Amino acid sequence: MTEADCLFCSIVAGENPATVIREDDRTLAFMDINPATRGHCLVIPKRHSDDLTLSDPEDIAACSIAAQELAQRAISKLGADGVALISFAKPAAGQTVFHTHLHVIPRYEGDGLKQPWIPNNVDAAEIESSAKEMSND
Ligand code: 5GP
Ligand code: ZN
Repeated sequence: MTEADCLFCSIVAGENPATVIREDDRTLAFMDINPATRGHCLVIPKRHSDDLTLSDPEDIAACSIAAQELAQRAISKLGADGVALISFAKPAAGQTVFHTHLHVIPRYEGDGLKQPWIPNNVDAAEIESSAKEMSND
């Protein structure tokens, strides 16, 4: 994916419409076109990266700050009871638009959304084994 054929880059460039709700030097936030709940929006870095694992850490920091502010607005202005933040990286995780983005999803008591995973019982050795591979050396 390059900037030239990226949907979200075209929104940043003003070549495609979006309902923008927040902007700073590094980030843009706009309403999701197919919202999961009332107020569902997306925060993106203005600079293109395909997904969160490939982004400049400074861009992720700026997106996180923007997402926190929007989560606060969801509670104080929309009356949300909670907020879910999520980013899917790569198709296996469910990513469909290949420009890094954080979903800010206001949650309301009884909104019917499901958790994105089913908790599994696995033995402690398996958790230890993945922990070893995930740890700082
Ligand atoms: P993903 O599945 O990659 O995590 O999320 C992509 C999100 O982008 C989806 O929630 C989808 O509704 C949203 N989306 C796709 N195309 C557009 C668009 O043209 N404009 C806006 N505002 N959102 C879009
Ligand atoms: Zn892009």
